[in-house]
Amino acid sequence: MARTEKNALQQVVETFSLEALPRSVDLNELAVKFGVSSVEVDTISSEAMLVPSADGYKIILKKSDSPSGLTRQRFSFAHELGHLLLKSVGYSGNSSSGAKHREKHGYNEEERLCDQIAAEILMPGVAFTSDAAESEWSLSKLSHLAGMYGTSIPATARRMIGLIPEPCVMGIWKPAASDTETHSLQQSFGTQSRYGVPNATRLSRLRLWLIARAANSRRVESGILPLLARNRPSASPPDVPADAWAWGKDEFRRVMVFYYPERKLTDDMLTIANATWRSM
Ligand SMILES: [Zn+2]
Repeated sequence: MARTEKNALQQVVETFSLEALPRSVDLNELAVKFGVSSVEVDTISSEAMLVPSADGYKIILKKSDSPSGLTRQRFSFAHELGHLLLKSVGYSGNSSSGAKHREKHGYNEEERLCDQIAAEILMPGVAFTSDAAESEWSLSKLSHLAGMYGTSIPATARRMIGLIPEPCVMGIWKPAASDTETHSLQQSFGTQSRYGVPNATRLSRLRLWLIARAANSRRVESGILPLLARNRPSASPPDVPADAWAWGKDEFRRVMVFYYPERKLTDDMLTIANATWRSM
């Protein structure tokens, strides 16, 4: 299944030269090119809909006024175009022929592919790679890139991880609000199954200190965090170099972590970690 999925994505990217699209591509213009006859914004319960019509397809987007709502709306628009592009390369997937709804639930192979196509459209490979490489794929560039491409922080981070030349894994953590809680992992993403972000419930709080430190900071914080290496089984996941940066307020505050499993741990990193652990 993974094979067909990858082929369908590659086929769409190549057939429609998505790699070479400009930054902030005009989705309305693209939609016309791909056979959409009209785009409407309405108060609907799903995020977006693609409806066959007499003269092509109609896309209906959920009405939204907030900046984050508009970001989501743009992603949903690109996602619906994904369904059209898949259809035109002959992908049948597991869909019915009727209207498509973009929902949080009912996530299947075709929906996942459409999210990937949306990322390819909104953050085109050539432009995005050049922009991210300019600052050596640093996590400190994440919010700037998200603003530049009109994409959400998590979607932009996934795109960075997908294109970065060195092995890197991302994890989004909800930091503990009190001493009695643990930090909780909300989502993780990597392109290699060799590495995995471990669950906090089996780790001592001290080992996750970087997450707490980033949660209380405005900058990107660097340090070490444990990451599972599936090819080197051990009772306790080893520490790897990591960068962490927090965004959002109060209960919506999240910490984005980039783990670099193949970078060397420096003496500095270990000294700082040891000193902190001893003083806590
Ligand atoms: Zn969909």
